[in-house]
Amino acid sequence: MSFSATILTLYPEMFPGPLGVSLSGDALARGLWSLEARNIRDHGLGRHRAVDDTPAGGGPGMVIRCDVLGAAIDAAVAQNDPRPRLLMSPRGRPLTQAYARELAAGPGVVIVCGRFEGVDERVIEARGLQEVSIGDYVLSGGEMAAMIVLDACVRLLPGVMGKEASGTEESFETNRLEYPHYTRPREWEGRSIPDVLLSGNHAAIERWRREESERITRERRPDLLTSERG
Ligand code: SAM
Repeated sequence: MSFSATILTLYPEMFPGPLGVSLSGDALARGLWSLEARNIRDHGLGRHRAVDDTPAGGGPGMVIRCDVLGAAIDAAVAQNDPRPRLLMSPRGRPLTQAYARELAAGPGVVIVCGRFEGVDERVIEARGLQEVSIGDYVLSGGEMAAMIVLDACVRLLPGVMGKEASGTEESFETNRLEYPHYTRPREWEGRSIPDVLLSGNHAAIERWRREESERITRERRPDLLTSERG
């Protein structure tokens, strides 16, 4: 069975969006994964299909109601659906390459996209939503964050990338950032390709790449050298 993604959003028209082109779009067309975007507003209340209300205790903004989101989740996802239920949220578990690999190895994901100030805490508890963050900044909604989670997962699915190796040598797969790449022309604006890469000496090329990887990681992300991947 292929990786299946169900998105709960107030803006289903945003999908597949950028996921419909290039690697993820080709994989979608080839049936290597599937995508369904459901409108939370279909479960909204009253004539205006209201989905949000003012925060209990006061304060700015609006909060997505637990009864509305609960009903939207129940209509989209069977109780015995084995897929993890994610909620995009700045306070969630940081998305890492290891986490993307973990998700990509499973049957798929259900992703709830927040808007406004977020969602009523009770629906997070009652529907077992796992909060996921794509970084330490605040977006206006969870849709683009959900696309990032999906893009990171889909490219790891079997058969999506041309060469399996291109997935395992990349940044974060080894706690190291990637070494620099070069291609033709050999000379450009007075800059040349490092001689070692044209030497044909594979051991020397590998050593150079490892050293460059370490140098760049030390300079830009020294935290990775001591971190546990996760
Ligand atoms: N009041 C929330 C807070 O301070 O944590 C921010 C809400 S934000 C304006 C609206 C929605 O965007 C969130 O419910 C979430 O779904 C999504 N979102 C914003 N930043 C995100 C991030 N860094 N990672 C994942 N989702 C994010």
